[in-house]
Amino acid sequence: MKASLYIVSTPIGNLNDISLRAIETLKRVDCIACEDTRMSQRLLNHYQIATKLVSYHEFSDEKVSDRLLDAIERGESMALISDAGTPLISDPGYRLVNEAVNRDIQVVPIPGSCAFVAALSASGLPSDRFSFEGFLPSKSGARVKALEALKKSPQTLIFYEAPHRILDSLKDMAAILGEQREAVLARELTKTFETIKKLPLTELHAWVGSDANQQKGEMVVLVGGYEQPEYEELNSSQEHLVKLLLNELPPKTVSKIVSAHFGMPKKIVYQAILNLS
Ligand code: SAM
Repeated sequence: MKASLYIVSTPIGNLNDISLRAIETLKRVDCIACEDTRMSQRLLNHYQIATKLVSYHEFSDEKVSDRLLDAIERGESMALISDAGTPLISDPGYRLVNEAVNRDIQVVPIPGSCAFVAALSASGLPSDRFSFEGFLPSKSGARVKALEALKKSPQTLIFYEAPHRILDSLKDMAAILGEQREAVLARELTKTFETIKKLPLTELHAWVGSDANQQKGEMVVLVGGYEQPEYEELNSSQEHLVKLLLNELPPKTVSKIVSAHFGMPKKIVYQAILNLS
């Protein structure tokens, strides 16, 4: 096996969701770096993989990365796995990979399961453009701020969420992103109680709130992107026309004529009239 760093995806629930190449790589490397050796040992036992496990987690310091990369430079092959899914996706590994790249060590991805990709693929929300946001801040103030920054993003938004925060997060999402925005809760993917539910945000919040089972397990929340209303405000020439008409006609009539002429909602013209007065 070539002395490289192999980034190996593992299942997010169903143990069959692992590639043949991932199994072969895990069998053949000299060593597997993982977050939780006890958890990863279960996967190795299932596939009769006897490779040695070493610990590499979020709090591992530089020395741990250096030690692992020194071993590769001495000719060892090494795999990095996380507790579930694709390493580095809301999981440790960035520092290790970045340092490996800086040292010109070959990094080889062995692709496979990833919770947000699985969720997006089955969500029914636009998948041509999306933004993976990982976990929102746990404190409400910071979460609200993060959502405010995403409010006008046109792409599908994807979040990981913890079960004890799902109701608070959905509530904040509805308040900030819009009550009627389409959203999807993708829960326990690939497992026995897999649930994928699509509803407008307020309804999704109520639905999750009314069933304690929906507040359990692992979950991804996806929210449809911001859709620019066809007319938000009048352009300058429309506004000029409104001003001229207001000299001759009552506001109600002006808003009726202008909205009919441009095929826009009356309330937008009316709002423009109010702004002018
Ligand atoms: N690296 C993983 C990946 O590739 O998806 C993600 C790890 S992150 C620490 C764990 C979060 O991923 C969970 O809190 C949940 O939001 C999401 N997740 C993981 N497995 C899932 C599953 N089976 N169903 C739904 N969400 C899942």
